Amino acid sequence: MPAPEPSPEDRVAALRALPKAELHLHVEGSIRPRTAVELAARHGVSLTEQVAQHRFRYSDFQGFLESFKWVAGFLREPADYALITRRLAEELLDQGVVYAEVITAVGVMLWQRQDAEANFAAMAEAAQEYEARGLTIRWLPDAAWQLGADAALEVARLVAGWRELGAIGFGMGGDELMFDYRQFRPAFELAAEHGLRRTAHAGEVGSPAKIRDAIELLGAERIGHGLATIHDPALADLLAERGIPLEVCPTSNVCTGALARQLGRPAATVADHPLPRLLAAGVPVTLATDDPGMFHTDLVSEYAACTTQLGLESIDVLNLAEAGFEHAFLPPEEKQEFVARLRREATSLGVT
Ligand SMILES: [Zn+2]
Repeated sequence: MPAPEPSPEDRVAALRALPKAELHLHVEGSIRPRTAVELAARHGVSLTEQVAQHRFRYSDFQGFLESFKWVAGFLREPADYALITRRLAEELLDQGVVYAEVITAVGVMLWQRQDAEANFAAMAEAAQEYEARGLTIRWLPDAAWQLGADAALEVARLVAGWRELGAIGFGMGGDELMFDYRQFRPAFELAAEHGLRRTAHAGEVGSPAKIRDAIELLGAERIGHGLATIHDPALADLLAERGIPLEVCPTSNVCTGALARQLGRPAATVADHPLPRLLAAGVPVTLATDDPGMFHTDLVSEYAACTTQLGLESIDVLNLAEAGFEHAFLPPEEKQEFVARLRREATSLGVT
């Protein structure tokens, strides 16, 4: 007699238990409304959870960037950054994440005239405590496109000195439409010279040309979102040939309006996401949450949506989980160890 089909609850439990990696995750965007209230109170600002919830709803990408800036405004000293790192780490453990590369907005810290190094050291120290509990966190400090090339270079210069603290790369995010990517070459070149890995948000709301520029001009090794790939089959081939993955974040793309914009529709849902199409075209893809607090999501929900809303098979989901380790900025032997562990546990959980 064939084994009975697992219930939806059993499937979610199995997804939670699978050891996973998350490669596109902003610590500032992981702040839940409850924590925003707590941070505000620390600085004498009265805020209700209801107001915070309201601020975490957007009608477009600019609205999202405004909210990101708003919540980052409650991060003022190293202890605030340590707090949000601990909250995030607890959530990651609960989600079965064993390895995460976490983005932090160093460009925004400098723009706010904060002691970015003290903030980063506090986050790195807080993250270190979770190593013993089975969660490895590495850091990808980033700069914001909209703050310009000089600010980006300053971030790259700082981050180059933070390798001992756990910084493994340098990236850029924010408003990709504001400037020509060519201007950011010095920042990326400096990062490369200091052995930092490079990522860039591109083609989230912008065109395929942004993705090409991120790769060809800036040497980006992974692309944040890259939704615009759907408009350019030759670009999909290029990503496939060079093994450059898109860090795909379906719920984020719905919440920011990026998906509707790329599809040329007034609105879109996760079910409209081109993730299956990208996979079918051979584009390397990893699955992530981007800003789980601000988008009311978590990694297990993103994996669950792959089967319930995007029509992927269980094996595709397992491949996505494997891709999370394969495309991590880890030495090959560490990737292999994680992948072997994933396969072992997937077999015992019946996810095949
Ligand atoms: Zn992002």
